[in-house]
Amino acid sequence: MRKKIFLTTFLTALFVLLFSLVMSAMILFRFFEERSEDELKQESEAIASGTDEYGIGYLTRLKSERRITLIDTDGTVLYDNEADPAEMENHKDRTEVKEAFSNGSGTSIRYSNTMTEETIYYALKLKDGQVLRIAATQDSIYAWLIKLLIPAGCIFGIAVCGSLIISSKLSRSILTPINNLNLDDPENNDTYEELHPLLERISTQNKMIRSQEREESEKREKFRREFTANVSHELKTPLTSISGFAELMKQGGMDEETVIDFSTTIYDESQRLITLVNDIIRLSSLEDRDIQYEWENVNLLGLSRDVASRLQSAADRKRVKILVIGREQNVYGIWDLIYEMVYNVCDNAVKYNKENGAVTITVGGDEKTASVSVEDTGIGIPKEDIDRIFERFYRVDKSHSKAVGGTGLGLSIVKHGAIIHHAHIHVHSTLGQGTEIVLEFPKKQDETRFSTPETDA
Ligand code: ADP
Repeated sequence: MRKKIFLTTFLTALFVLLFSLVMSAMILFRFFEERSEDELKQESEAIASGTDEYGIGYLTRLKSERRITLIDTDGTVLYDNEADPAEMENHKDRTEVKEAFSNGSGTSIRYSNTMTEETIYYALKLKDGQVLRIAATQDSIYAWLIKLLIPAGCIFGIAVCGSLIISSKLSRSILTPINNLNLDDPENNDTYEELHPLLERISTQNKMIRSQEREESEKREKFRREFTANVSHELKTPLTSISGFAELMKQGGMDEETVIDFSTTIYDESQRLITLVNDIIRLSSLEDRDIQYEWENVNLLGLSRDVASRLQSAADRKRVKILVIGREQNVYGIWDLIYEMVYNVCDNAVKYNKENGAVTITVGGDEKTASVSVEDTGIGIPKEDIDRIFERFYRVDKSHSKAVGGTGLGLSIVKHGAIIHHAHIHVHSTLGQGTEIVLEFPKKQDETRFSTPETDA
């Protein structure tokens, strides 16, 4: 901006200077030219009256610095004080002579070959019909401009230096108050009135940003407190149980069956703890912006078959059938994470299924998206809970979830994975009849758009 102000001021000054120089040279020249013409006219009239009275003899006696030519009625040169009339060509067609023959007087200006001199001709018709022409030679406008060049150059140089200093100072003085603006407190600035609306807008925006930041920080703090409370609670229950059973076993005197029973409970509870801790670690790693994932082409059909076979024994225990159908679909993504997403959804479909139920995994898609749909014939999800099942530790039925080994974090991991892959999750569920969860991935991924999930889920 400073450069722009400086350049504009400087170039304007330069233009005004050049323009006024040329204009004043032209006006001055015109003034002197007109004066010369007037003098020439007066002189011509005096010589003409002398010639009228005394004839050509008057001219030969006359001592004049001007060039004087006498032209006969047919254009023949009768007398010239600078050249031999016999060698001069017919002057009938000269502009000023022609004008004088027809109007009584005529003028014309002709330039020398170098254009630095001009000759003003003034012709007058004498009483006997002959034409008397007087010529005056002087510097042309070009010669004037050339002569003016040196003084003008000096003035120009001084003016350039002056305008450089002035425009530099001017631009600095315009910009200093702007550079010194206190944008943290926009309303407390003593600056140009024209900037007040802008400063007011900045002030409003600052207030909005501050209030947003405050809200976000409160939200984060609330979330952190809730998360810590939830984690402590989730850890405390199995730990209390482990500690209680271990204490009983420590006292000894138990039969072998009770020992096996107690140690099975201790084992199950510690397994649940391990799963819970693993899920917490997984979630926090998904929030870590510094982790670099390996992106590759992921075959959803093959991946779904792997998931199904891993869940087969759990499904068999519940007599739930798992079916994988669909066609080959590839998406660009993080294999481990997509596997975990599909696994968690399928695991729920088995866990919350009924005896002899079914889980159908369908891989499909179109030009732009590829999807994995997991449909079960399980207990279903109440309508009012559908939006909340992706929250951390949210369970529709806490005791049921615990009974089937849930941590309340599985779908939260699915949601984070979806955000990272820019995928959509659709849930359709009918209570008592079953649930369908669809994971829909875009086929083209822009890794630069890679986003880390917010910590609100
Ligand atoms: P959990 O470890 O408890 O399964 P999730 O985050 O995986 O935690 O799921 C959250 C809750 O959503 C579950 O506790 C359950 O109540 C409900 N849910 C998830 N999937 C299903 C499903 N397929 N059928 C019925 N309820 C489900």
